[in-house]
Formats: sequence, C-alpha cells, structure tokens
Amino acid sequence: MRPVVLCFSGLDPSGGAGLQADIEAIGAQGAHAAVVCTALTIQDTRRVYGFQAIDPAFLRQQADKVLADLPVAVIKCGMLANPEVVAMVREVCVAHPHITLVLDPVLAANSGGSLADPRMVTELASLFPHAALITPNSLETRWLAAREDLDAALTHLHDLGAKAILLKGGHEPGNMIRNLLSVDGKTVQTSQWPRLPHEFHGSGCTLASAIAGALAHGLALPVAVTRAEVWLQSTLTDADLPHPDGQAIPKRVRSDFA
Ligand code: PLP
Repeated sequence: MRPVVLCFSGLDPSGGAGLQADIEAIGAQGAHAAVVCTALTIQDTRRVYGFQAIDPAFLRQQADKVLADLPVAVIKCGMLANPEVVAMVREVCVAHPHITLVLDPVLAANSGGSLADPRMVTELASLFPHAALITPNSLETRWLAAREDLDAALTHLHDLGAKAILLKGGHEPGNMIRNLLSVDGKTVQTSQWPRLPHEFHGSGCTLASAIAGALAHGLALPVAVTRAEVWLQSTLTDADLPHPDGQAIPKRVRSDFA
C-alpha cells in the first residue's frame, strides 16, 4: 500500500490548516494520511477564537490502534495544544523509535492567534531529540529558544536535541522568503521564494506534511524538503482568497472544475 503518515493535529473548521491540510498534502505526495485529532479549534480564515484539546488517554488509544494496524513510516505532529498531549506523543515516539518524526512546533496560527497552552514553549523541546526534522518559522524559533538572534536561536534548538531544523522565513521582512535547512548545526541547504501577495492559512502545515509524505517514500531529507517547497509554492500561487483582508487557502487538491 502507499506509505502511511500518522498525523497528530488539530481541526481547523475553515479547512485551510490543521488536519485537513495534512490529509490533502500527504495525499498529494502519494502517501496515505491517518489522523489523530488533538484539538478542535474555533477559527476562520481571519483569526483564531479558541480551542479545546482532546483527552490524551483517548488519543493514545486511537494512535495505538492505527500503529498496530497500518504500516506507519512517518509520524507528523502539528498542533499538540498542551503539555499532556505532548507527553502522550513522546510516549508513542519512545514506543516506536524506528518511525521518523516530523515536528511542526505549532504555537500560533499565521493570523497570530494562540493554538497552544503557554507552557508549551518549554514542553515542545522534549520532543526535539525524537524528531528527524523540526519545522519552526522564525517566530517559533525565537520563542522556543528564548533568543532574538536567529543564528543563536538555531544553535540553541540544536543544543536542546534538534537534529535537523527547517527554519521558515515567511515572517521575516523582504520580497523574498528565505528558508534554511540546518543539520547538526550546519546549514546544508537554503532556498528563496518570491513573496506572494497575500497571507496564507495553513502554509506551514502544508509544507511540513508534504515533507512528511516525501520522507515516507524514503527520500533523503534535503530532497524531500526541496520537493515539498516547490509543491507548496504551487499550492500558494493558486490559493483561494475568500476575503481581500483575510488569508488565502492553499490549493492542495486539483480538480477538473477549477
Ligand atoms: N494547526 C491548526 C489546527 C491550525 O488551525 C493552524 C493554523 O490556523 C496551524 C496548525 C498552523 O497553521 P500554519 O500552517 O498557518 O502555521
């Protein structure tokens, strides 16, 4: 069967981010997404209004059933909401050390609304040593490292156990967006993308899940990252913009209708 990616992510009812982004992005890479829904959010394409996390013991039972049933190659984490859910995911990683973990350390939506308990900034670091890749944007990098300077912050995240970091530069100023892949403290790859004329809802989820899907096929990390970045750009170029002042929804699924 297609390689399987097990996602731990939240439900965004607008369908732009979260588990819907994961399912569509992973499906577009020719992999199969299985999803454990960590939290329900209240949000639209403009902002986050609230969220409710799901009982971690219940989530663990879901994950165990999927892991016993399907050949999971990669685990991808998005919104984990609170330290109790992080602890549950950590136990799953310890029980399945041979499954590749891609961790998108979600703390806030692109619109700025919080998607995590404030204790999460320190808690998420406990997953770093288990992850083959973490994919913070520059804001998350600074928060997680408690450092302003991005080079110093990257070094600190490696010191906390992160093996590979894809630093996404979309929140930094400039006409070009610069991403950087750092492995064991060394920059192994950089890329530049023209800044498109809108903000996007779920671009981070889309990229991390596309990487997870590519890794599930056995691609090497830098190859998987480049492939996913190229594909992400196409989904953003064709994104749907429901309101001129809101965020655009990446077009991850192609159809004869549009
Ligand atoms: N996970 C969920 C459930 C979300 O709703 C969001 C943002 O709205 C995110 C993750 C992070 O989204 P982005 O890819 O825009 O960083």
